[in-house]
Amino acid sequence: MDADVIVVGAGIGGLSAAIRLAVTGRRVLVLERNSSVGGKMSEWTEDGFRWDTGPSVVTMRPVFEEFFASLGRRLEAYLDLAPVEPLTRYFYPDGFRLDLSRDLPRTLQQISRLEPRDVDGYLAFLAYAARLNRLTAPVFTFGPPPSLTSMAQIAPLDGLWVAGQALRSMDFAIRAHVRSPHLRQLLGRFATYVGSSPYQVSAVLAVIAHVELNEGVWYPRGGVYAIVRALERLAGELGVAIRTNAEVVAISCSQNRKREKEESQAEDDPSRRASPKPSKPSRHLPPFRVSGVVLATGETLTASTVVANLDVATVYERLLPREALFRRRLARLERMPPSCSGFVLLLGVEGEHVDLAHHNIFFSSDYPREFCQIFAEGLPPDDPTIYIAITSKTDPEHAPSGCENWFVLVNAPAADGRFNWDVHKEDYAELVLRRLAERGFDVRGRLRVRRIVAPPDLERLNGARRGALYGVSFNDRFAPFKRPANRCSEVDGLYFVGGTTHPGGGVPMVMLSGKVVAEMIAGDGR
Ligand SMILES: Cc1cc2nc3c(=O)[nH]c(=O)nc-3n(C[C@H](O)[C@H](O)[C@H](O)COP(=O)(O)OP(=O)(O)OC[C@H]3O[C@@H](n4cnc5c(N)ncnc54)[C@H](O)[C@@H]3O)c2cc1C
Repeated sequence: MDADVIVVGAGIGGLSAAIRLAVTGRRVLVLERNSSVGGKMSEWTEDGFRWDTGPSVVTMRPVFEEFFASLGRRLEAYLDLAPVEPLTRYFYPDGFRLDLSRDLPRTLQQISRLEPRDVDGYLAFLAYAARLNRLTAPVFTFGPPPSLTSMAQIAPLDGLWVAGQALRSMDFAIRAHVRSPHLRQLLGRFATYVGSSPYQVSAVLAVIAHVELNEGVWYPRGGVYAIVRALERLAGELGVAIRTNAEVVAISCSQNRKREKEESQAEDDPSRRASPKPSKPSRHLPPFRVSGVVLATGETLTASTVVANLDVATVYERLLPREALFRRRLARLERMPPSCSGFVLLLGVEGEHVDLAHHNIFFSSDYPREFCQIFAEGLPPDDPTIYIAITSKTDPEHAPSGCENWFVLVNAPAADGRFNWDVHKEDYAELVLRRLAERGFDVRGRLRVRRIVAPPDLERLNGARRGALYGVSFNDRFAPFKRPANRCSEVDGLYFVGGTTHPGGGVPMVMLSGKVVAEMIAGDGR
Protein backbone atom coordinates (compact mmCIF):
# COMPACT_ATOMS: atom_id res chain seq x y z
CA MET A 1 0.00 0.00 0.00
CA ASP A 2 1.21 3.51 -0.79
CA ALA A 3 0.89 5.60 2.35
CA ASP A 4 0.85 9.32 2.97
CA VAL A 5 1.93 8.70 6.54
CA ILE A 6 3.86 5.79 8.06
CA VAL A 7 3.52 5.33 11.82
CA VAL A 8 6.32 3.29 13.41
CA GLY A 9 4.92 1.46 16.45
CA ALA A 10 1.36 0.55 17.41
CA GLY A 11 1.37 1.72 21.03
CA ILE A 12 -1.51 3.89 22.23
CA GLY A 13 0.25 6.98 20.87
CA GLY A 14 0.86 5.49 17.42
CA LEU A 15 -2.66 4.16 17.11
CA SER A 16 -4.34 7.35 18.26
CA ALA A 17 -2.23 9.51 15.90
CA ALA A 18 -2.92 7.09 13.01
CA ILE A 19 -6.68 7.22 13.64
CA ARG A 20 -6.77 11.01 13.87
CA LEU A 21 -4.79 11.29 10.63
CA ALA A 22 -6.92 8.73 8.79
CA VAL A 23 -10.14 10.53 9.62
CA THR A 24 -8.82 13.55 7.71
CA GLY A 25 -8.47 11.43 4.56
CA ARG A 26 -4.78 10.51 4.72
CA ARG A 27 -3.67 6.98 3.84
CA VAL A 28 -1.97 5.72 6.98
CA LEU A 29 0.16 2.61 7.46
CA VAL A 30 1.15 1.48 10.98
CA LEU A 31 4.18 -0.81 11.30
CA GLU A 32 4.52 -2.76 14.55
CA ARG A 33 7.43 -5.07 15.33
CA ASN A 34 5.47 -7.25 17.78
CA SER A 35 2.81 -9.76 16.76
CA SER A 36 0.06 -7.73 18.45
CA VAL A 37 -0.70 -4.05 18.93
CA GLY A 38 -0.82 -1.98 22.14
CA GLY A 39 2.85 -1.76 23.17
CA LYS A 40 3.12 -1.33 26.94
CA MET A 41 -0.65 -1.72 27.16
CA SER A 42 -0.70 -5.46 26.79
CA GLU A 43 -2.40 -8.55 28.22
CA TRP A 44 -1.42 -12.07 29.27
CA THR A 45 -3.48 -15.22 29.75
CA GLU A 46 -2.39 -18.43 31.43
CA ASP A 47 -4.09 -21.36 33.15
CA GLY A 48 -7.54 -19.72 33.12
CA PHE A 49 -6.24 -16.34 34.40
CA ARG A 50 -6.06 -13.06 32.49
CA TRP A 51 -4.01 -9.96 33.36
CA ASP A 52 -3.40 -6.49 31.98
CA THR A 53 0.40 -6.36 32.02
CA GLY A 54 0.84 -2.58 31.67
CA PRO A 55 -1.47 0.26 32.70
CA SER A 56 -4.10 -0.49 35.32
CA VAL A 57 -5.18 2.98 36.47
CA VAL A 58 -7.11 5.00 33.88
CA THR A 59 -7.87 8.65 34.59
CA MET A 60 -8.97 11.71 32.54
CA ARG A 61 -12.15 10.26 31.07
CA PRO A 62 -12.83 13.52 29.13
CA VAL A 63 -9.71 12.84 27.02
CA PHE A 64 -11.28 9.58 25.80
CA GLU A 65 -14.66 11.25 25.28
CA GLU A 66 -13.08 14.01 23.17
CA PHE A 67 -11.13 11.43 21.14
CA PHE A 68 -14.26 9.52 20.11
CA ALA A 69 -16.32 12.71 19.63
CA SER A 70 -13.63 14.14 17.30
CA LEU A 71 -14.20 11.08 15.09
CA GLY A 72 -17.97 11.54 15.14
CA ARG A 73 -18.43 8.59 17.49
CA ARG A 74 -19.58 7.94 21.04
CA LEU A 75 -17.18 6.46 23.58
CA GLU A 76 -19.95 4.20 24.92
CA ALA A 77 -20.19 2.44 21.55
CA TYR A 78 -16.58 1.25 21.93
CA LEU A 79 -15.72 1.19 25.61
CA ASP A 80 -17.53 0.59 28.87
CA LEU A 81 -15.61 2.81 31.28
CA ALA A 82 -16.84 1.95 34.76
CA PRO A 83 -16.08 4.14 37.80
CA VAL A 84 -13.84 2.37 40.33
CA GLU A 85 -14.84 2.53 44.00
CA PRO A 86 -12.89 2.89 46.19
CA LEU A 87 -10.38 4.65 43.94
CA THR A 88 -7.62 2.87 45.87
CA ARG A 89 -7.35 1.07 49.22
CA TYR A 90 -4.22 2.14 51.12
CA PHE A 91 -2.55 -0.11 53.72
CA TYR A 92 0.05 1.43 56.08
CA PRO A 93 2.80 -0.39 58.01
CA ASP A 94 1.15 0.56 61.35
CA GLY A 95 -2.06 -1.24 60.36
CA PHE A 96 -4.05 1.89 59.39
CA ARG A 97 -6.22 1.40 56.31
CA LEU A 98 -7.71 4.19 54.21
CA ASP A 99 -10.11 3.95 51.29
CA LEU A 100 -9.87 6.96 49.01
CA SER A 101 -13.42 7.27 47.81
CA ARG A 102 -15.44 9.13 45.19
CA ASP A 103 -17.67 9.90 48.14
CA LEU A 104 -15.82 12.90 49.61
CA PRO A 105 -17.52 12.83 53.05
CA ARG A 106 -16.45 9.17 53.38
CA THR A 107 -12.84 10.09 52.61
CA LEU A 108 -12.94 13.05 55.00
CA GLN A 109 -14.32 10.92 57.81
CA GLN A 110 -11.30 8.59 57.52
CA ILE A 111 -8.88 11.53 57.32
CA SER A 112 -10.37 13.01 60.50
CA ARG A 113 -9.42 9.78 62.30
CA LEU A 114 -5.82 10.36 61.25
CA GLU A 115 -5.59 14.07 62.03
CA PRO A 116 -8.73 16.23 62.43
CA ARG A 117 -6.94 19.36 61.18
CA ASP A 118 -6.14 17.58 57.91
CA VAL A 119 -9.77 17.57 56.83
CA ASP A 120 -9.45 21.25 55.96
CA GLY A 121 -5.88 20.73 54.73
CA TYR A 122 -6.95 17.97 52.36
CA LEU A 123 -9.79 20.09 50.97
CA ALA A 124 -7.37 22.99 50.53
CA PHE A 125 -4.94 20.68 48.72
CA LEU A 126 -7.69 19.53 46.35
CA ALA A 127 -8.54 23.17 45.60
CA TYR A 128 -4.82 23.95 45.12
CA ALA A 129 -4.39 21.04 42.67
CA ALA A 130 -7.57 22.05 40.81
CA ARG A 131 -6.31 25.63 40.46
CA LEU A 132 -2.96 24.43 39.14
CA ASN A 133 -4.77 22.22 36.66
CA ARG A 134 -7.06 25.03 35.49
CA LEU A 135 -4.10 27.36 34.87
CA THR A 136 -1.52 24.97 33.48
CA ALA A 137 -3.40 22.23 31.60
CA PRO A 138 -4.23 24.36 28.52
CA VAL A 139 -0.55 25.24 28.13
CA PHE A 140 1.32 22.14 29.32
CA THR A 141 -1.10 19.27 28.65
CA PHE A 142 -3.65 19.96 25.94
CA GLY A 143 -1.61 21.83 23.35
CA PRO A 144 1.74 21.63 21.56
CA PRO A 145 4.97 21.83 23.62
CA PRO A 146 4.98 24.94 25.83
CA SER A 147 6.49 28.11 24.40
CA LEU A 148 6.72 31.74 25.46
CA THR A 149 3.68 32.47 23.26
CA SER A 150 1.55 29.70 24.74
CA MET A 151 2.57 30.63 28.27
CA ALA A 152 1.33 34.16 27.64
CA GLN A 153 -2.18 32.64 27.81
CA ILE A 154 -1.78 32.58 31.59
CA ALA A 155 -2.68 35.96 33.13
CA PRO A 156 0.45 37.67 34.59
CA LEU A 157 -0.49 37.33 38.27
CA ASP A 158 -1.55 33.70 37.82
CA GLY A 159 1.66 33.10 35.86
CA LEU A 160 3.74 34.40 38.76
CA TRP A 161 1.87 32.12 41.15
CA VAL A 162 2.40 29.08 38.88
CA ALA A 163 6.10 29.94 38.53
CA GLY A 164 6.36 30.05 42.33
CA GLN A 165 4.81 26.59 42.58
CA ALA A 166 7.04 25.25 39.81
CA LEU A 167 10.10 26.03 41.93
CA ARG A 168 8.81 24.12 44.98
CA SER A 169 8.81 20.34 45.21
CA MET A 170 5.57 18.39 45.30
CA ASP A 171 6.47 17.18 48.78
CA PHE A 172 6.95 20.79 49.97
CA ALA A 173 3.48 21.74 48.69
CA ILE A 174 1.92 18.68 50.33
CA ARG A 175 3.58 19.49 53.68
CA ALA A 176 2.24 23.02 53.44
CA HIS A 177 -1.31 21.60 53.34
CA VAL A 178 -1.47 18.45 55.48
CA ARG A 179 0.22 17.25 58.69
CA SER A 180 -0.41 13.52 58.81
CA PRO A 181 2.58 11.46 57.56
CA HIS A 182 0.03 8.96 56.18
CA LEU A 183 -1.68 11.57 54.05
CA ARG A 184 1.63 13.11 52.98
CA GLN A 185 2.80 9.73 51.71
CA LEU A 186 -0.49 9.14 49.92
CA LEU A 187 -0.48 12.50 48.12
CA GLY A 188 3.23 12.17 47.25
CA ARG A 189 2.52 8.88 45.50
CA PHE A 190 1.04 10.76 42.54
CA ALA A 191 4.57 11.66 41.42
CA THR A 192 5.03 7.98 40.56
CA TYR A 193 2.29 8.30 37.92
CA VAL A 194 5.00 9.90 35.78
CA GLY A 195 7.73 7.64 37.13
CA SER A 196 9.24 10.34 39.33
CA SER A 197 9.94 11.19 42.97
CA PRO A 198 7.68 13.46 45.08
CA TYR A 199 10.84 14.89 46.66
CA GLN A 200 12.17 16.07 43.30
CA VAL A 201 9.26 16.83 40.96
CA SER A 202 7.79 20.29 40.79
CA ALA A 203 4.65 21.00 42.85
CA VAL A 204 2.87 21.70 39.56
CA LEU A 205 2.66 17.92 39.13
CA ALA A 206 -0.02 18.02 41.86
CA VAL A 207 -2.33 18.23 38.83
CA ILE A 208 -2.05 14.42 38.76
CA ALA A 209 -3.69 14.28 42.19
CA HIS A 210 -6.41 16.54 40.80
CA VAL A 211 -7.28 14.26 37.88
CA GLU A 212 -7.58 11.23 40.15
CA LEU A 213 -9.03 12.68 43.35
CA ASN A 214 -11.36 15.28 41.85
CA GLU A 215 -12.25 13.51 38.58
CA GLY A 216 -12.00 9.78 39.42
CA VAL A 217 -10.52 6.50 38.22
CA TRP A 218 -12.07 4.41 35.46
CA TYR A 219 -11.88 0.76 34.56
CA PRO A 220 -12.62 -0.39 31.00
CA ARG A 221 -14.81 -3.47 31.50
CA GLY A 222 -13.12 -6.54 30.07
CA GLY A 223 -9.71 -5.18 31.11
CA VAL A 224 -7.58 -2.14 30.29
CA TYR A 225 -6.61 -3.87 27.03
CA ALA A 226 -10.19 -3.11 25.90
CA ILE A 227 -8.80 0.35 25.05
CA VAL A 228 -6.40 -1.24 22.54
CA ARG A 229 -9.21 -3.34 21.08
CA ALA A 230 -11.36 -0.20 20.70
CA LEU A 231 -8.53 1.65 18.91
CA GLU A 232 -7.82 -1.34 16.67
CA ARG A 233 -11.51 -1.52 15.71
CA LEU A 234 -11.64 2.22 15.00
CA ALA A 235 -8.46 2.01 12.93
CA GLY A 236 -10.05 -0.73 10.83
CA GLU A 237 -13.23 1.30 10.35
CA LEU A 238 -11.25 4.32 9.20
CA GLY A 239 -9.04 2.41 6.77
CA VAL A 240 -5.76 2.50 8.73
CA ALA A 241 -3.57 -0.37 7.54
CA ILE A 242 -1.74 -2.14 10.39
CA ARG A 243 1.13 -4.54 9.77
CA THR A 244 2.37 -6.51 12.77
CA ASN A 245 5.69 -8.42 12.86
CA ALA A 246 7.07 -5.49 10.87
CA GLU A 247 10.17 -4.10 12.56
CA VAL A 248 11.51 -0.83 11.20
CA VAL A 249 15.32 -0.77 11.20
CA ALA A 250 15.86 2.62 9.54
CA ILE A 251 14.08 5.87 8.82
CA SER A 252 15.27 6.97 5.40
CA CYS A 253 16.09 10.59 4.86
CA SER A 254 17.97 12.72 2.37
CA GLN A 255 19.36 16.26 2.24
CA ASN A 256 16.52 18.75 2.38
CA ARG A 257 16.34 20.10 -1.20
CA LYS A 258 14.22 23.08 -0.15
CA ARG A 259 16.99 24.11 2.19
CA GLU A 260 19.71 23.50 -0.41
CA LYS A 261 17.69 25.59 -2.87
CA GLU A 262 17.41 28.40 -0.37
CA GLU A 263 21.17 28.25 0.28
CA SER A 264 22.05 28.36 -3.42
CA GLN A 265 19.58 31.20 -4.03
CA ALA A 266 21.31 33.11 -1.27
CA GLU A 267 24.71 32.50 -2.89
CA ASP A 268 23.39 33.69 -6.30
CA ASP A 269 22.04 36.86 -4.74
CA PRO A 270 24.71 39.57 -5.53
CA SER A 271 23.77 41.67 -2.51
CA ARG A 272 24.40 38.63 -0.23
CA ARG A 273 27.58 37.63 -2.15
CA ALA A 274 29.07 40.99 -1.25
CA SER A 275 28.41 40.29 2.40
CA PRO A 276 31.46 39.04 4.35
CA LYS A 277 29.19 36.78 6.48
CA PRO A 278 28.25 33.31 5.12
CA SER A 279 24.51 33.13 4.44
CA LYS A 280 22.50 31.09 6.95
CA PRO A 281 19.62 28.88 5.81
CA SER A 282 16.17 29.55 7.21
CA ARG A 283 15.93 28.40 10.82
CA HIS A 284 12.70 26.57 10.08
CA LEU A 285 14.05 24.32 7.34
CA PRO A 286 15.61 21.18 8.82
CA PRO A 287 18.76 19.94 7.08
CA PHE A 288 17.19 16.53 6.26
CA ARG A 289 13.92 15.39 4.78
CA VAL A 290 12.21 12.07 5.53
CA SER A 291 11.48 9.75 2.61
CA GLY A 292 10.26 6.50 4.20
CA VAL A 293 11.42 3.53 6.24
CA VAL A 294 13.34 0.28 5.87
CA LEU A 295 12.04 -2.92 7.45
CA ALA A 296 14.13 -5.68 9.01
CA THR A 297 13.29 -7.82 5.97
CA GLY A 298 15.04 -5.26 3.74
CA GLU A 299 11.76 -3.99 2.29
CA THR A 300 11.69 -0.23 1.74
CA LEU A 301 8.51 1.83 2.00
CA THR A 302 8.16 5.44 0.96
CA ALA A 303 6.16 8.19 2.64
CA SER A 304 6.56 11.95 2.92
CA THR A 305 5.58 11.86 6.61
CA VAL A 306 6.76 9.44 9.30
CA VAL A 307 5.48 9.39 12.88
CA ALA A 308 7.73 7.51 15.32
CA ASN A 309 5.96 6.02 18.34
CA LEU A 310 9.02 4.35 19.85
CA ASP A 311 11.34 5.95 22.36
CA VAL A 312 12.68 9.22 20.90
CA ALA A 313 16.26 8.45 21.98
CA THR A 314 16.08 5.06 20.24
CA VAL A 315 15.07 6.78 17.00
CA TYR A 316 18.23 8.91 17.14
CA GLU A 317 20.42 6.02 18.22
CA ARG A 318 19.23 3.26 15.89
CA LEU A 319 16.92 4.47 13.13
CA LEU A 320 18.43 7.71 11.84
CA PRO A 321 21.68 7.82 9.82
CA ARG A 322 24.95 8.12 11.78
CA GLU A 323 25.26 11.88 11.28
CA ALA A 324 27.00 14.14 13.80
CA LEU A 325 23.90 16.25 14.47
CA PHE A 326 21.84 13.16 15.36
CA ARG A 327 24.65 11.95 17.66
CA ARG A 328 24.65 15.35 19.38
CA ARG A 329 20.88 15.20 19.93
CA LEU A 330 21.19 11.65 21.30
CA ALA A 331 23.90 12.78 23.71
CA ARG A 332 21.57 15.55 24.99
CA LEU A 333 18.70 13.07 25.42
CA GLU A 334 20.96 10.61 27.24
CA ARG A 335 21.85 13.28 29.78
CA MET A 336 18.19 13.47 30.86
CA PRO A 337 17.52 10.96 33.67
CA PRO A 338 14.95 8.26 32.82
CA SER A 339 11.71 7.80 34.71
CA CYS A 340 11.55 4.76 36.94
CA SER A 341 10.82 1.31 35.65
CA GLY A 342 8.63 -1.33 37.22
CA PHE A 343 9.03 -4.82 38.63
CA VAL A 344 5.87 -6.79 37.87
CA LEU A 345 4.52 -10.08 39.21
CA LEU A 346 1.55 -11.69 37.51
CA LEU A 347 0.08 -13.97 40.14
CA GLY A 348 -2.71 -16.50 39.75
CA VAL A 349 -3.80 -16.77 43.39
CA GLU A 350 -6.05 -19.40 44.95
CA GLY A 351 -8.59 -17.97 47.37
CA GLU A 352 -10.57 -14.74 47.50
CA HIS A 353 -9.34 -11.82 49.58
CA VAL A 354 -12.31 -9.81 50.75
CA ASP A 355 -10.01 -7.25 52.41
CA LEU A 356 -8.52 -6.28 49.05
CA ALA A 357 -10.16 -3.89 46.58
CA HIS A 358 -9.64 -3.49 42.80
CA HIS A 359 -6.64 -1.15 43.40
CA ASN A 360 -4.51 -1.59 46.55
CA ILE A 361 -1.36 0.03 47.85
CA PHE A 362 0.86 -1.32 50.65
CA PHE A 363 3.03 1.61 51.66
CA SER A 364 6.66 1.22 52.69
CA SER A 365 7.78 2.47 56.10
CA ASP A 366 10.38 4.93 54.75
CA TYR A 367 9.22 6.71 51.58
CA PRO A 368 12.25 9.06 51.13
CA ARG A 369 14.62 6.07 51.41
CA GLU A 370 12.60 4.17 48.81
CA PHE A 371 13.01 6.98 46.24
CA CYS A 372 16.66 7.44 47.17
CA GLN A 373 17.30 3.77 46.41
CA ILE A 374 15.45 3.97 43.08
CA PHE A 375 16.82 7.24 41.72
CA ALA A 376 20.16 7.86 43.48
CA GLU A 377 21.44 4.33 44.13
CA GLY A 378 19.87 2.58 41.12
CA LEU A 379 18.67 -0.27 43.35
CA PRO A 380 15.24 -1.83 43.78
CA PRO A 381 13.93 -0.80 47.21
CA ASP A 382 14.40 -3.35 50.02
CA ASP A 383 11.15 -2.13 51.62
CA PRO A 384 9.09 -1.32 48.52
CA THR A 385 5.64 0.21 48.27
CA ILE A 386 3.61 -2.57 46.66
CA TYR A 387 0.67 -1.98 44.33
CA ILE A 388 -1.84 -4.75 43.57
CA ALA A 389 -4.57 -4.50 40.94
CA ILE A 390 -7.15 -7.29 40.85
CA THR A 391 -9.43 -6.99 37.83
CA SER A 392 -11.25 -10.21 38.77
CA LYS A 393 -12.88 -8.16 41.56
CA THR A 394 -14.78 -6.35 38.77
CA ASP A 395 -14.59 -8.97 35.97
CA PRO A 396 -14.83 -12.38 37.74
CA GLU A 397 -14.10 -14.23 34.49
CA HIS A 398 -10.49 -12.99 34.67
CA ALA A 399 -9.72 -15.82 37.12
CA PRO A 400 -10.99 -19.36 37.69
CA SER A 401 -13.73 -19.70 40.29
CA GLY A 402 -12.38 -19.18 43.82
CA CYS A 403 -9.19 -17.51 42.52
CA GLU A 404 -7.89 -13.98 41.82
CA ASN A 405 -5.59 -12.45 39.19
CA TRP A 406 -3.08 -10.25 41.01
CA PHE A 407 -1.06 -7.72 39.03
CA VAL A 408 1.68 -6.70 41.48
CA LEU A 409 3.81 -3.66 40.64
CA VAL A 410 6.77 -2.21 42.51
CA ASN A 411 8.62 0.91 41.39
CA ALA A 412 12.11 -0.05 40.30
CA PRO A 413 15.11 1.82 38.87
CA ALA A 414 15.50 1.99 35.11
CA ALA A 415 17.84 -0.80 34.02
CA ASP A 416 21.15 1.06 33.82
CA GLY A 417 23.37 -1.87 34.75
CA ARG A 418 23.77 -1.02 38.45
CA PHE A 419 21.50 -3.93 39.49
CA ASN A 420 21.80 -7.33 37.85
CA TRP A 421 18.18 -8.35 37.28
CA ASP A 422 19.11 -11.55 35.45
CA VAL A 423 20.81 -12.86 38.57
CA HIS A 424 18.54 -11.38 41.25
CA LYS A 425 15.00 -11.19 39.88
CA GLU A 426 13.87 -14.45 41.53
CA ASP A 427 15.23 -13.25 44.91
CA TYR A 428 13.48 -9.91 44.48
CA ALA A 429 10.18 -11.64 43.68
CA GLU A 430 10.58 -13.60 46.93
CA LEU A 431 11.28 -10.37 48.82
CA VAL A 432 8.07 -8.77 47.47
CA LEU A 433 6.01 -11.86 48.39
CA ARG A 434 7.62 -11.95 51.86
CA ARG A 435 6.76 -8.28 52.44
CA LEU A 436 3.13 -9.00 51.49
CA ALA A 437 3.12 -11.96 53.87
CA GLU A 438 4.37 -9.66 56.65
CA ARG A 439 1.38 -7.44 55.93
CA GLY A 440 -1.05 -10.32 56.33
CA PHE A 441 -1.33 -11.50 52.71
CA ASP A 442 0.79 -14.62 52.47
CA VAL A 443 -0.02 -16.21 49.11
CA ARG A 444 3.28 -18.07 48.67
CA GLY A 445 1.70 -21.50 49.07
CA ARG A 446 -1.31 -20.68 46.91
CA LEU A 447 0.12 -19.60 43.58
CA ARG A 448 -1.11 -21.33 40.44
CA VAL A 449 0.76 -18.89 38.21
CA ARG A 450 3.79 -16.75 39.05
CA ARG A 451 5.30 -14.77 36.17
CA ILE A 452 8.00 -12.12 36.63
CA VAL A 453 8.48 -9.08 34.36
CA ALA A 454 11.63 -7.16 35.37
CA PRO A 455 12.87 -3.85 33.86
CA PRO A 456 15.06 -5.50 31.17
CA ASP A 457 12.01 -7.61 30.16
CA LEU A 458 10.03 -4.39 29.61
CA GLU A 459 12.81 -3.18 27.32
CA ARG A 460 12.80 -6.46 25.42
CA LEU A 461 9.01 -6.65 25.11
CA ASN A 462 8.20 -3.07 24.06
CA GLY A 463 11.49 -1.40 23.27
CA ALA A 464 11.06 0.77 26.40
CA ARG A 465 14.56 2.22 26.78
CA ARG A 466 16.09 0.80 29.98
CA GLY A 467 12.60 -0.39 30.84
CA ALA A 468 11.60 3.19 31.81
CA LEU A 469 7.79 3.34 31.99
CA TYR A 470 7.38 7.01 31.03
CA GLY A 471 10.45 8.12 29.02
CA VAL A 472 12.52 10.78 30.78
CA SER A 473 11.58 11.61 34.36
CA PHE A 474 9.99 14.82 35.62
CA ASN A 475 12.47 14.97 38.52
CA ASP A 476 13.91 18.18 37.08
CA ARG A 477 11.77 21.28 37.86
CA PHE A 478 12.10 22.41 34.22
CA ALA A 479 11.31 18.97 32.77
CA PRO A 480 8.19 20.05 30.81
CA PHE A 481 10.38 22.46 28.82
CA LYS A 482 13.10 19.89 28.19
CA ARG A 483 10.94 16.96 27.05
CA PRO A 484 11.54 15.94 23.43
CA ALA A 485 9.18 17.92 21.20
CA ASN A 486 6.74 16.24 18.79
CA ARG A 487 8.28 17.71 15.62
CA CYS A 488 11.82 16.57 14.79
CA SER A 489 13.92 19.69 14.32
CA GLU A 490 16.56 17.97 12.16
CA VAL A 491 14.34 15.98 9.76
CA ASP A 492 11.50 17.58 7.83
CA GLY A 493 8.43 15.31 7.91
CA LEU A 494 9.45 13.29 10.98
CA TYR A 495 7.27 13.54 14.11
CA PHE A 496 7.32 11.88 17.55
CA VAL A 497 4.29 10.57 19.40
CA GLY A 498 3.92 8.68 22.70
CA GLY A 499 4.97 8.65 26.31
CA THR A 500 8.59 9.65 25.74
CA THR A 501 7.64 12.95 24.14
CA HIS A 502 5.28 15.87 24.92
CA PRO A 503 3.05 16.05 26.95
CA GLY A 504 4.26 12.94 28.85
CA GLY A 505 3.68 9.32 29.78
CA GLY A 506 0.51 7.65 30.98
CA VAL A 507 -2.40 6.60 28.80
CA PRO A 508 -4.43 9.84 28.57
CA MET A 509 -1.29 11.94 28.01
CA VAL A 510 -0.17 9.58 25.26
CA MET A 511 -3.62 9.84 23.64
CA LEU A 512 -3.17 13.62 23.77
CA SER A 513 0.23 13.37 22.09
CA GLY A 514 -1.58 11.66 19.19
CA LYS A 515 -3.83 14.69 18.93
CA VAL A 516 -0.92 17.14 19.13
CA VAL A 517 0.94 15.32 16.34
CA ALA A 518 -2.09 15.00 14.06
CA GLU A 519 -2.79 18.73 14.45
CA MET A 520 0.87 19.58 13.88
CA ILE A 521 0.98 17.56 10.65
CA ALA A 522 -2.19 19.26 9.41
CA GLY A 523 -0.83 22.67 10.46
CA ASP A 524 2.40 21.99 8.57
CA GLY A 525 0.30 21.44 5.44
CA ARG A 526 1.44 17.83 5.00
C1 LIG B 1 4.03 -1.99 34.01
C2 LIG B 1 3.43 -0.69 33.52
C3 LIG B 1 2.46 -0.06 34.27
C4 LIG B 1 1.88 1.13 33.82
N1 LIG B 1 0.85 1.68 34.53
C5 LIG B 1 0.17 2.73 34.02
C6 LIG B 1 -1.04 3.16 34.60
O1 LIG B 1 -1.54 2.56 35.59
N2 LIG B 1 -1.70 4.22 34.04
C7 LIG B 1 -1.22 4.85 32.92
O2 LIG B 1 -1.86 5.79 32.44
N3 LIG B 1 -0.06 4.45 32.34
C8 LIG B 1 0.64 3.41 32.84
N4 LIG B 1 1.76 2.94 32.22
C9 LIG B 1 2.33 3.73 31.11
C10 LIG B 1 1.61 3.50 29.80
O3 LIG B 1 1.50 2.13 29.56
C11 LIG B 1 2.39 4.16 28.69
O4 LIG B 1 2.60 5.54 28.96
C12 LIG B 1 1.72 4.04 27.32
O5 LIG B 1 1.08 2.82 27.12
C13 LIG B 1 2.82 4.25 26.28
O6 LIG B 1 2.28 4.26 24.99
P1 LIG B 1 3.19 4.73 23.76
O7 LIG B 1 2.27 5.04 22.64
O8 LIG B 1 4.12 5.78 24.18
O9 LIG B 1 4.09 3.55 23.29
P2 LIG B 1 4.50 2.09 23.67
O10 LIG B 1 3.45 1.41 24.43
O11 LIG B 1 5.88 2.13 24.23
O12 LIG B 1 4.54 1.43 22.22
C14 LIG B 1 5.59 1.59 21.31
C15 LIG B 1 5.38 0.54 20.24
O13 LIG B 1 6.41 0.67 19.27
C16 LIG B 1 6.82 -0.65 18.90
N5 LIG B 1 8.16 -0.55 18.33
C17 LIG B 1 9.32 -0.28 18.98
N6 LIG B 1 10.34 -0.28 18.12
C18 LIG B 1 9.82 -0.56 16.89
C19 LIG B 1 10.40 -0.68 15.60
N7 LIG B 1 11.70 -0.51 15.40
N8 LIG B 1 9.58 -0.98 14.56
C20 LIG B 1 8.24 -1.13 14.74
N9 LIG B 1 7.66 -1.03 15.96
C21 LIG B 1 8.43 -0.73 17.02
C22 LIG B 1 6.76 -1.42 20.19
O14 LIG B 1 6.73 -2.82 19.98
C23 LIG B 1 5.48 -0.88 20.80
O15 LIG B 1 4.35 -1.62 20.39
C24 LIG B 1 2.34 1.74 32.62
C25 LIG B 1 3.32 1.10 31.87
C26 LIG B 1 3.85 -0.11 32.29
C27 LIG B 1 4.88 -0.82 31.44
